[in-house]
Amino acid sequence: MTNYSHIDLHSHSNVSDGLLSPSALVQHAAEHGLKVLALTDHDDTAGLAEARIAAEQHGITLIPGVEISVTWRRRTVHVVGLRVDATHAPLVEGLRQIRAGRHTRAQGMAASLEKAGIEGSLEGAYRYAGEGIISRTHFARFLMENGYGNEMRKVFKRFLVKGKPGYVEHHWAGLEEAVGWILGAGGVAVIAHPGRYDMGRPTMLELIEEFRSCGGSAIEVVTGSHTPDQYLEYARIAAMFGLQASQGSDYHGQGLSYMEMGRLPALPANCVPVWQNWPEAALPAEVH
Ligand code: AMP
Ligand code: MN
Ligand code: MN
Ligand code: MN
Repeated sequence: MTNYSHIDLHSHSNVSDGLLSPSALVQHAAEHGLKVLALTDHDDTAGLAEARIAAEQHGITLIPGVEISVTWRRRTVHVVGLRVDATHAPLVEGLRQIRAGRHTRAQGMAASLEKAGIEGSLEGAYRYAGEGIISRTHFARFLMENGYGNEMRKVFKRFLVKGKPGYVEHHWAGLEEAVGWILGAGGVAVIAHPGRYDMGRPTMLELIEEFRSCGGSAIEVVTGSHTPDQYLEYARIAAMFGLQASQGSDYHGQGLSYMEMGRLPALPANCVPVWQNWPEAALPAEVH
């Protein structure tokens, strides 16, 4: 039997593109055996206050986090910030600007879908986004609702990736900028799900080198979107660069996730866990 980890450092609420409210997400984590959960919504920290209250009620430690959208060499990569002070002004302002850019991009996506004969997608996507950020996931849900597919993955492939009608080239934050906001907010910067970037190993190593030179110190090794082979591959890369290792489900809700909560295996043995010196992440028995 696999010994599942009680720590999950990557998850989404409906403040970004997850299905559950921050408090329902925390409850879900508790019901699935987690003791430490990071809420890492895309480009927004608005769910942290609600999540913190729920975490206290459920006896869970909440790690305040965020997943920042970054453009690096014209590619999109994600940088997770953990243990951030979400009131740090440059972080607040930086995220606000990214969210404004999301709105502009959404208008472009809708215009482009309209040219392909699909009307009403802006309003339709915003109905799913509510007051939170607008993302491709919300467009995908609108498209599914209107009969353009019944599987998220397929809808992305057909409409929402490079070269398809609903895809709009977008410039997110710079790598150095995003890492700077995270460090300025007292947090740790983590490269999210490196195995998902389609860039080839030499470019990947350059990304990691540049990330490290900006002050980034960790990389996701075990994530819901890595295969077991990738756990080992990124554990080796972490060791090679002297980076700490993180783990997270990247849970978005049922039907939207690669993995259920509470199903993360332990990090490979040669990893230095990103939480190793966090007192709040130690199990009660481990506190001396
Ligand atoms: P955005 O940040 O608005 O470009 O949307 C990116 C989000 O879309 C990711 O965080 C995932 O939640 C989701 N996503 C991206 N690619 C896919 C895919 N191929 N299948 C399902 N969801 C995806
Ligand atoms: Mn997402
Ligand atoms: Mn991501
Ligand atoms: Mn994520």
